[in-house]
Amino acid sequence: MSTILIVEDEARIVSFLVKGLTAEGFATRTAGRGLDGIELALQGGIDLILLDVGLPDLDGFEVLESIRGQGVATPIIMLTAKTSTRDRVAGLEGGADDYVPKPFSFQELLARIRLRLRDATPAAAEAHILERKGVALDLLTRRVRVDGDWVDLSTREFALAELLMRHPGQVLSREQLLSNVWGLDFDPGSNVVDVYIKYLRAKLGADRIETIRGTGYRLL
Ligand code: CA
Repeated sequence: MSTILIVEDEARIVSFLVKGLTAEGFATRTAGRGLDGIELALQGGIDLILLDVGLPDLDGFEVLESIRGQGVATPIIMLTAKTSTRDRVAGLEGGADDYVPKPFSFQELLARIRLRLRDATPAAAEAHILERKGVALDLLTRRVRVDGDWVDLSTREFALAELLMRHPGQVLSREQLLSNVWGLDFDPGSNVVDVYIKYLRAKLGADRIETIRGTGYRLL
């Protein structure tokens, strides 16, 4: 669940946003003053910030500057009644990700929020997952899922699975597998590859890895 911090002093707007966002499955935190908003933003656990420009203590641009100046990269959408180009430019130059002029419809704001949350999901999060036919290898957490179930692989098994997943459909020779997964100090006559392929088949599914007689193995 994503948590949205609302920094806004008008109770009517806060309640409108909290109700709408809660109904859409978001968690919300609220701050009526700029300083409280900064404090909450710095505490972390916030996925996106809706930041009003007209606040009773600091203005939204100062809040923005303070938050960004302290290294917080959380997406920020500025809300303002001011429609001047100057404010828009100042907001975007100050590190805001988007700008929604008041009055806005909830659906419009929701669409912007969803867009920013999607952008904020690191592309790397997808790049470090290798996926093929129901098998997913997470290269960061070293976890493996097969048809939705978590499966434990040993370090060697994971390395072997990763190599096969990086070359789907290609025949990899025993020597290639040995040198990549075990290093070159293994006796090429060793049957360790065959043994580990057997382990992998037991964990990932027997029909996922094809034996190419006399040559090696192929991930289907
Ligand atoms: Ca205000």
